[in-house]
Order: sequence, then C-alpha cells, then structure tokens
Amino acid sequence: MIIAANLKTNLTRKQTLEYVNELEDFLNKNNISQEVLVFPAASSLNAHSGKVIIGAQNAYATANGAYTGEIGQDHLDEFGIKTILIGHSERRHILGESQEELVKKFNYYKELGYKIIYCVGEPLDVREAGYEPMIEYISDQYEGIDTNYENLIIAYEPVWAIGTGLTPTLEEIEATHKDLKKKSPAPLLYGGSVKVTNANDVLELQSVDGILVGSAALYVEHFCTMCEYA
Ligand code: 13P
Repeated sequence: MIIAANLKTNLTRKQTLEYVNELEDFLNKNNISQEVLVFPAASSLNAHSGKVIIGAQNAYATANGAYTGEIGQDHLDEFGIKTILIGHSERRHILGESQEELVKKFNYYKELGYKIIYCVGEPLDVREAGYEPMIEYISDQYEGIDTNYENLIIAYEPVWAIGTGLTPTLEEIEATHKDLKKKSPAPLLYGGSVKVTNANDVLELQSVDGILVGSAALYVEHFCTMCEYA
C-alpha cells in the first residue's frame, strides 16, 4: 500500500519539519513499513526523513534556466528529491497546464528515473455526462504517458471530490479503478476527500493500491491513523 499526503500550499517549512518528524516517529514506533510519501510546498523540500519519502508537487522539464517561478531538476537534486507529482487537477485547471506540458515533464523526469505520481480525474460536468464519456475523458489524460514506466504511480482523483467532502461510492471507485487498471500496470491510488472515517473502506477495495490525501492529511495524527490502516 502507498499512502501519500499532498500538503498543497499549506504548512510552512517549520510546520512541515515538525510534521515529518512526528510522522517518522509514529511509523518507527508502530513498525509501519508501508510506502509513505509527503508532498510539501517547494520551500519545505529539505524536510529530510528516513522512512518518509519527500516528493515535489511540481517540477519543470529542465535542470535550470529562464523559467520564472518554476523549479528544476538541479533544485530537486540538491535536496535528494527523486519523486514528483504531476498532472494534479489544480495544476491542470487552475494553473492551466496542458496535456502537452505534462507529457514534457513526464518524459524529462522519466529519463532521469524519477518516481512519478501522475494524477488523472474528471470534473463534475464530465461525471454527469455518464460513465463512458467519463472514462474517455480520463483516457485522454493518459495520452503521451508511458503507462508501462516502472516508476510510475497513477492517482485517480475525481475533481469534484477534491476538498468537497464528496466521494464516489465504494462501488464506483472500484468500477473506475478496474477500468483504469486496464490502461496501466502501475499502482493506482484513489484521492478526493479521503479522511480517517473512509480511508479504511477505500483501502480495502481490491483495485485500490493506496490513497492520496489532501485536507485530512494536514493533521498529522489523522494521516498517521491512515498509515496505520494500510
Ligand atoms: P482532499 O483530500 O482535500 O480532497 O484533496 C485531495 C487531493 O487533491 C490530493 O492530491
């Protein structure tokens, strides 16, 4: 099982260091050997840890250069970061990242052997259009991505479930995951309003290989509990 926390634009560097230390202590004390990943803000990428894998929420397809506001491979390297998250719906929809841009990032970091968590998921209007159009929409998000890449992890996050408290039913998650599993042998995480009260049920689904948690992961004790479930 893979348990991941996307801290988004939350927690300062000081708070992140405390968070990661606390999480690390918990994992050690409870002998938890699941793969635990934390994606903090870029300013906290030096939050080194033992068991906890620190990853970047974004990375530009370059080592360095004139790309104001972006972070490149040299900067990740400095902190020993070898894991990145790309394709999150907030970057696709709020920051306007195109599929073409994501493919560039994917290919660049794949060449370097990075572990890549690649996010997919449909907005509400697509969901409401029906199951087939939804699967078609998500399939387009796989375009240009080497789905057999050995260090790939896919996260299915319905956009309408992110930060809303709404989730698909367990049956719906299972059905969608089963179809997405046909597209790639990569581990498949579910994300979108996962919290302590539903994480266990989601993790028990046969087609779910882990969870990607946002808001509920901001409370370290909640995230620890979810790691324990796995
Ligand atoms: P929430 O858990 O807040 O719904 O966010 C999920 C998410 O976007 C993780 O990447």
